[in-house]
Amino acid sequence: MMKRTTFILFTLCFSTLLLSFVPNTEYAPKASIKTLVIDPGHGGIDPGAPGLFSHEAHVSLEVALKFGKALEKEFPDLKIVYTRTTDVMAGNKRTKDEGLRYRADLANQSHGDLFISIHCNSAGRRAGGWYEKVVTGKTPYTKTVGKGKKKRKVTAYRYKYANVWRENHTKGTETYIWAVNKNDAKVSSMNKNFESEEGGEGETSTLTLPDPSDPAEKARMLIYALQYFRKSYSLAEQIENEFVSGGRTSRGVKQRNHLGIWVLQATGMPSVLVEIGFISNKEEEEYINSDKGQEEIVEALVNSFRAYKLKTESRQLSPAP
Ligand SMILES: [Zn+2]
Repeated sequence: MMKRTTFILFTLCFSTLLLSFVPNTEYAPKASIKTLVIDPGHGGIDPGAPGLFSHEAHVSLEVALKFGKALEKEFPDLKIVYTRTTDVMAGNKRTKDEGLRYRADLANQSHGDLFISIHCNSAGRRAGGWYEKVVTGKTPYTKTVGKGKKKRKVTAYRYKYANVWRENHTKGTETYIWAVNKNDAKVSSMNKNFESEEGGEGETSTLTLPDPSDPAEKARMLIYALQYFRKSYSLAEQIENEFVSGGRTSRGVKQRNHLGIWVLQATGMPSVLVEIGFISNKEEEEYINSDKGQEEIVEALVNSFRAYKLKTESRQLSPAP
C-alpha cells in the first residue's frame, strides 16, 4: 500500500516537474491557434443517428465543410485539417474504433491547436415520433361464468384502444468536453439515461477508457486537466452561448467519460464535441438540413472560434501573473 502511494506521489511530482519544462501555453508565442482540426462525426459504414429523411453523418459533414470554408475566408493563415471530407469512415477505416483512433492520430500528427468534432443528437425511440397504444375507455357487459350450480353472471369490460402519436420533442444543442473532474460544479454531469446515438460501447469495442487507478494514466489525465480542460470548457461555453444568442435552445455544456467522445481525451489539445441539434426531432432535423439552419450553426461556430482565438492569443501578450 505504502509503495503504491509513494509511486503515485512520485508520478504526480514528476508530472508537475515535467509540466514546468513544457512551455506555458498561456504565455508562450506557441499559444497562437495555427492549426484547427475539424472532425465531422461518423461517415461511411457508420451513418450515425437516423432522422426521418437524413442521417447524422451527412448533416455533420455538410456543416463541418461549411464551417471550414467560412473560417478560410476570415482566417487565411489558419491551417484546417479535416478528419474526412467525403462520406467515408475517417481514414477509410473499417470500424468505428479504427476511425476514432485515426481521428485522434491525425489530430496529434497535425499538431492541432484545437479539435472540434461535429455531431447531431438523437433521443427517444424513433425519429419524428411514434404511436403508442393507450386505453381510451371501457364498456361494461354481462357474461356468464362457471358451470352447473356455480353458474353466475358477472360484469366484464370491453376496452377501447387508440394509437396516440407521441412526438419526439427533445431538441436543442449540447457541447461535450471530456470529464476530467466530475465534481466540477460548473458543468452538469453526464446523464447515463440520456444515451444519444454515440454507440461503439459494445463488447466488440477495442477502445478503452482511461483508468484513473492506473498511476501512468492518472498522470496523463493530470496533464490533460492542467493544459486542456479549462480551454475546452471555455470554448464549449462560448459555443453554447452563441447558439442561445442565435435563438436556439441550449442544453448546456456537458462532460462525459464515454467511448463516443473517447477521441476528445486522445487528442493532445483542447477539444470539444458539438451536437448541433436533434436529428430525431422533426423540426430540428429540417432546421439542421436547411441552408438557413446550417448558416446559423456555422455563424455560431465561427463566432466562438474567433472569440476563443482572440482570448488565447491576447493572453500570451499580457505578462505572467
Ligand atoms: Zn454522433
